[in-house]
Amino acid sequence: MNIESINLIHLLEHADIGVVIHAWDTQIVYANPAAIEILNTPLAKLKTITGKHEHWEFIDRQDRRLHIDEYPVNKIVRLGTPLTNEIIGIVEKDCGAVKWVRVNAYPEKYKDNSKGFIVVYFTEITEQVTHFSYKDIVQNSQDMIIVTEAANVEGPLSPQIIYVNDAICELSEYSREELIGETPRIFQGPLTDKSATLRIRQALLEQRPVTETLLNYTKSGTPYWVEMSIFPLTNRFGEVTHFASVERDVSSTRFYSEQLKGRNDELKLIRENLEKLVMEKTREIKNVNAKLEKLAYFDELTDIPNRRAFYDTLEKATHFAERNHFSLIVGIADVDHFKRLNDTYGHGLGDKVLYAVAQIMKQFFRQEDGIGRLGGEEFGFFMVIPTSLEPEGLLNRLRQKVENLNKTISELNDYQVTISIGAFHVQSTEYVEGKQLMDEADKALYCAKHDGRNRVHIQRQLTKE
Ligand code: GH3
Ligand code: MG
Ligand code: MG
Repeated sequence: MNIESINLIHLLEHADIGVVIHAWDTQIVYANPAAIEILNTPLAKLKTITGKHEHWEFIDRQDRRLHIDEYPVNKIVRLGTPLTNEIIGIVEKDCGAVKWVRVNAYPEKYKDNSKGFIVVYFTEITEQVTHFSYKDIVQNSQDMIIVTEAANVEGPLSPQIIYVNDAICELSEYSREELIGETPRIFQGPLTDKSATLRIRQALLEQRPVTETLLNYTKSGTPYWVEMSIFPLTNRFGEVTHFASVERDVSSTRFYSEQLKGRNDELKLIRENLEKLVMEKTREIKNVNAKLEKLAYFDELTDIPNRRAFYDTLEKATHFAERNHFSLIVGIADVDHFKRLNDTYGHGLGDKVLYAVAQIMKQFFRQEDGIGRLGGEEFGFFMVIPTSLEPEGLLNRLRQKVENLNKTISELNDYQVTISIGAFHVQSTEYVEGKQLMDEADKALYCAKHDGRNRVHIQRQLTKE
């Protein structure tokens, strides 16, 4: 047996090196099984392809797409010289994966040197070219990784899971076989936040990345929190073919943050309650203070300033009148025969009359004047007035108003309410202290009583001691 008798075609059929033979017009005339497998294209299809077709997508080591003239077979046709150990990436059409091959090619000429065939042979070196396996990284990652198809996101069984790594099987308790072909909804359960899943779905529909934290459930129903980051994967034509989801179990951090949130909510509640309490107490204290102030300065029965408040304001008014050269009228109005009213009709009616007289005074005098109940049935008043004003008419009007009380208090029968008014009119020539002014008013009152009551007596000069 000599060497020529070896069936070379038989050899090629069993070699694990890919061999493709082109006619000189680049038409493929032969491809061995190894080539068919590496090129992932059936022979019948291969035979329809010529070097002029941009059927393949080849890239170089820098990821640059080869121009059709750079395809090995076309290079041989163009240059006529062999090609040695060129490394070329074949891009898989459907998923964009790259298969790396080391290519040799040479022109096989006839004995008469006429053009015959182009022989291309290649071996796959993907493992060597990619120094490490991305698949290993993904497969062994502590983070969970799921890849789904991108098609038909809204279908009942979509998006379909086509890949899961070990981490996901470990945590979810589902086997790889159970998960492939399922949809990621398999992990969702009764307390999974629907609004979050809707947001995810919307992002998938819009083919954009999305990050969410979601409550998932294991096969046996134990819930766990995952923080997932989903992003679209595109093929070399820029079409989104898949979604990858990288997920991390954040149950423990979630637990602590919820604990923390719970504590914060509690603290917030306590603080709010405290604030409310402080506000309530402040309001109460203010009310009590206002009441105390009222008690200290107001007469309870008549609801007008008491003696002390009256003297305080009188003091201020005397200084004011002196400084501004105003006159001052200081007086006392005393209910006539009040004892008889009490004795005849009782203290109740007496009180009612005192209240009514006080209200008349309140309405009669202006804000800047002063009034007060001095005690019993005696009321003090003062007015700062221009020096030209003659107060007698004014005070008589007050007296008449009290006289009219009988019209409104029917129980008084034959008792006619009247007041006697004694007043001291100070021209603004000298300062006289409040107490002394009141003494003068008291003397004037005595005169009014003495003269027959229900009248006004005004004194204009200090009495000599
Ligand atoms: P005059 O015309 O001289 O002023 O005679 P009067 O009876 O009004 O004077 P008197 O001072 O004798 O009597 C005042 C009475 O006022 C005596 C007292 O019991 C009564 N009185 C004092 N305070 C009150 C009070 O708050 N309520 C009632 N109902 N009576 C009071
Ligand atoms: Mg009296
Ligand atoms: Mg009196």
